[in-house]
Amino acid sequence: MKVLVVGGGGREHALAWKLAQSPKVSEVIGAPGNPGIAKLGRCVQISPTDVKALADFAEKEGIELTVVGPEAPLVEGIVDEFEKRGLKIFGPSKAAARLEGSKAFSKEMMRKYGVPTADFEVFDDPEKAIEFVKKKGAPIVVKADGLAAGKGVVVAKTVEEAIEAIKKIMVDKVFGEAGNRVVIEECLFGEEASYLVITDGERFVPLATAQDHKAVYDGDRGPNTGGMGAYSPAPVLSEELEKEVQEKVIKPILEGMRKEGHPFKGVLYAGLMITDEGVKVLEFNVRFGDPEAQALLRRLDSDLFEVCTSAVEGRLVEELHWKPETSICVVLASRGYPGKYEKGKVITGIEEAEKVPTVVVFHAGTKEENGKLLTNGGRVLNVTALGKDIVEARERAYEAIKRIHFDGMHYRKDIGLKALKRLGIEE
Ligand code: AMP
Repeated sequence: MKVLVVGGGGREHALAWKLAQSPKVSEVIGAPGNPGIAKLGRCVQISPTDVKALADFAEKEGIELTVVGPEAPLVEGIVDEFEKRGLKIFGPSKAAARLEGSKAFSKEMMRKYGVPTADFEVFDDPEKAIEFVKKKGAPIVVKADGLAAGKGVVVAKTVEEAIEAIKKIMVDKVFGEAGNRVVIEECLFGEEASYLVITDGERFVPLATAQDHKAVYDGDRGPNTGGMGAYSPAPVLSEELEKEVQEKVIKPILEGMRKEGHPFKGVLYAGLMITDEGVKVLEFNVRFGDPEAQALLRRLDSDLFEVCTSAVEGRLVEELHWKPETSICVVLASRGYPGKYEKGKVITGIEEAEKVPTVVVFHAGTKEENGKLLTNGGRVLNVTALGKDIVEARERAYEAIKRIHFDGMHYRKDIGLKALKRLGIEE
């Protein structure tokens, strides 16, 4: 059976890689895909947000299942378009995808259904937002309502900084329509973690735990990126905390979505802050995280095609099976990223890197030109490895990285070190 993967980054390469392992899958097609996905199957040059063209393609090709990587097509309503035509697609409807597409909607759902989250107010008038910030004082968090490629959140240390953020978002409209409204919320403190489940709208199965690394430099310094690395399992979530998240976050929000008439199907990702008062939700995402997906999918033993199909058909598998090993994903980025970065640099050494035991290199921002592999994005490659523990997984990934080269390549050297500290192991 043919499977279509929508998107073209490292997460989508990992999804395609895992789906291609299913005995039921005859071909994996990426839209638009990337050179890594092309090696597993083929790619079609259709934009992930051109939902009509994607549905036309799926009809014409007889695609059995479509799996969507990024949030934008989900928020655009790709699932509604496919379902209208009787095509199977894994992901939430447009209405359900508002859990990520609108922070105001998401926060209001949390308030209505008792999900612990930072105290907040929603504003569509910048003057009122500024007044509120002045009254509340700093630190305070300002969030653009809509999708802003992960850049719409400002954790302001001062009132001035918060006011500046409100003006940028609501007056200068740096994120366009996404800034018509803002959520202003209390600043939370603690360690961040993410918790992901797959759900058919009724039931859910948890994914293994994972933790990502957002800041560009070692020690969580420097500006935030899309994510510089991840590892799984992430011992930050104890079994007790996992139970708390399931009971206080996942169950009530899924029930709330059903009650509102928009059952949530697909991957629900809760971004969490472990505070002294317990777990609180920072945000929901409606798809796999990137690069957590790469770390998670390396450990998944279950057949992903079967898992996704079972969720789409409302007969979710009972559980997921995971390799006992620890996995790690280290992102290799272009010079300048997350700011303005360079493209078109020659990449070498992937084959050599993949000779290190367990190492798989996913493509995130690459392109092929005249038989050469070139950089084509801020995040270029994802080096993943497994190990009996985080120490071994790290050794393998970083050994593989030594063999890869492109001009301006940079990466974090401390991916997974938090896990080491937590386990009481020092390197
Ligand atoms: P979000 O996209 O809402 O997850 O926000 C992006 C990042 O901003 C999070 O990963 C946190 O590091 C930070 N953040 C968001 N909301 C808060 C908050 N209420 N308090 C402290 N930090 C926050």
